[in-house]
Amino acid sequence: MLFIAPVSVLLFFIDGLGIGTRGSHNPFDGLDDAAPLAIFQDEPAVLHFNGLLAATDARLGVDGRPQSASGQTTILTGINAPAAIGYHKQGFPNQALLDIIREHSIFLQLKRAGIDEITFANTYTQRFFESRPRWISATTAAVEAAGLRFNVLDDLRTGRAVYHDFTNAMLIERGEIVSLRTPEEAAEVLAGIVAANQFTLYEYFITDKMGHAQDFDAARRVLKMLARFLRSLLAKLDLNNATVILTSDHGNIEDLSVRNHTLNPVPSIVWGRHRESLATRIRSLTDITPSIVDVLTKGTYTHGQSGQADSARASS
Ligand SMILES: [Zn+2]
Repeated sequence: MLFIAPVSVLLFFIDGLGIGTRGSHNPFDGLDDAAPLAIFQDEPAVLHFNGLLAATDARLGVDGRPQSASGQTTILTGINAPAAIGYHKQGFPNQALLDIIREHSIFLQLKRAGIDEITFANTYTQRFFESRPRWISATTAAVEAAGLRFNVLDDLRTGRAVYHDFTNAMLIERGEIVSLRTPEEAAEVLAGIVAANQFTLYEYFITDKMGHAQDFDAARRVLKMLARFLRSLLAKLDLNNATVILTSDHGNIEDLSVRNHTLNPVPSIVWGRHRESLATRIRSLTDITPSIVDVLTKGTYTHGQSGQADSARASS
């Protein structure tokens, strides 16, 4: 049996991206160059670089529309957060969700397993440190609780970090002295970060804002740029060594006829050498963190039962 050694993993998180139906409500319908993000219900997906799609349940057995705070907590911990608190929590995590993140985040689980080359690729601005917001994101709480270093603008300027708006346009609008990046230039930076770490998280949330704004043309512009960024990133990564998992917390941008989140499943798309076992295993948002922890601590076999992992290391 051939063993695949533990390698690097990128979790590419996109807020508010579901698998929708075709129609004038869906900005993906008829949009050129939106692969691999343009995925429609009951249609085979066009996925570059041998990606595999795992339609993923974001409702988690709890009534109501899936929301960001509880969905992101679930993605980042493997714990069914809406079930734990009894509802889907919007926006930023409350104390109960923060308690879950601060005890069980993927960063902490990896650190406890001896995986310490871990990074959150996104950049924070000085404003965050000078006047800390009262409410922080699930990701920020996870980074902080694991004692990871926050990337700052100097990291971005020296090509060691990306901004959530990977083009840097929003930073420039705010008066920060940084250079505009093409999606290809940003992809080069993120690919370098992935290669230098065992686990990298990247977070993108303009998709969710576009979904709430219901601005069809703006949504299409954003989706095309994001797809370009992703395709370029996949082309630059060594997918024999890197595993990429794209996922989302809930649907939104795929249905602009409603301002709210949708009840649609979200696309988890996996690339790289562990893609087959991951695509078999990921069924709900609770599966993301344990899958990543297993890839990085145990590896998977190339044949035998799909998704089967073993505690042996590469050397054994
Ligand atoms: Zn939202």
